[in-house]
Amino acid sequence: MKRVGTCPICNKGELLEFEDKFQCNFVENNKKLCNFFIYKSYSKKIITPEMLFDLLHNYETKIYSDFVDDKGEKFEAALKIVHGYINYKFRNQIVDNVKCVNCDGEILRTKQGWGCENYFNRKCGMFIYRSYNGTVMTEDIVRLLVTGNYTPFLNFTSKQGINFQAKLFVNDSTFQVQFDYSLGDCPKCSGTVLKMEKFFGCTNYLSDIKCDFIIWLSIFDYNLSFIDVEVLLRGDQTDVKSFRWKDKDFEGRLSLDENFKCKVS
Ligand SMILES: [Zn+2]
Ligand SMILES: [Zn+2]
Ligand SMILES: [Zn+2]
Repeated sequence: MKRVGTCPICNKGELLEFEDKFQCNFVENNKKLCNFFIYKSYSKKIITPEMLFDLLHNYETKIYSDFVDDKGEKFEAALKIVHGYINYKFRNQIVDNVKCVNCDGEILRTKQGWGCENYFNRKCGMFIYRSYNGTVMTEDIVRLLVTGNYTPFLNFTSKQGINFQAKLFVNDSTFQVQFDYSLGDCPKCSGTVLKMEKFFGCTNYLSDIKCDFIIWLSIFDYNLSFIDVEVLLRGDQTDVKSFRWKDKDFEGRLSLDENFKCKVS
């Protein structure tokens, strides 16, 4: 029997060529210790020496366009070893123009969400579920998350039915998708600004610094959005907003003055 290479799963056995497959021969004390095999063809495509080489050395082949499905239609796919078995990796599963920040792997669409290709062989923890707290993820959001960025503020509903806004990010050590409520850095003390019950305030309010920076939730009947507050904290001016003071309507832009108070101009 022809030996075709070292088994990529147990790294001890040799793959031997049989009539219909290449099979690992790793046995010890007459017990078969590795079941890895590669069929000689998948969906009517015959495994070439190049495909075999790629599977044994890179765990996956290039994408080929001459697989044929049960209905006789051609489809594009690569073959890939997942959990010790050969799987198809379909071209339309790959999210375009993005790679995993952790391992540079492709990001794949699945039923449950989006996962780094190396998530499926347990070498990378990157996985984004279809939804979080009732909010469905889009691929634009997924692109931000898997590249280590924060999303914009999104609307969520807590288990108790309360609506809240937060940014999402992927924790880079646990790969958990987490909420972040910070609106930006305090211009007075560089603390974190959060939405409090009655105003946007600095978390150092309670520390020794006793920072008193606040932005009220509304000014001249205009309710500030989280994006407005982010703009202000960056030191920028908002776009034009409509205000009302003593039954008079007027327009203006919001910014922070030299004393870090919110003003309209
Ligand atoms: Zn083996
Ligand atoms: Zn990855
Ligand atoms: Zn502060």
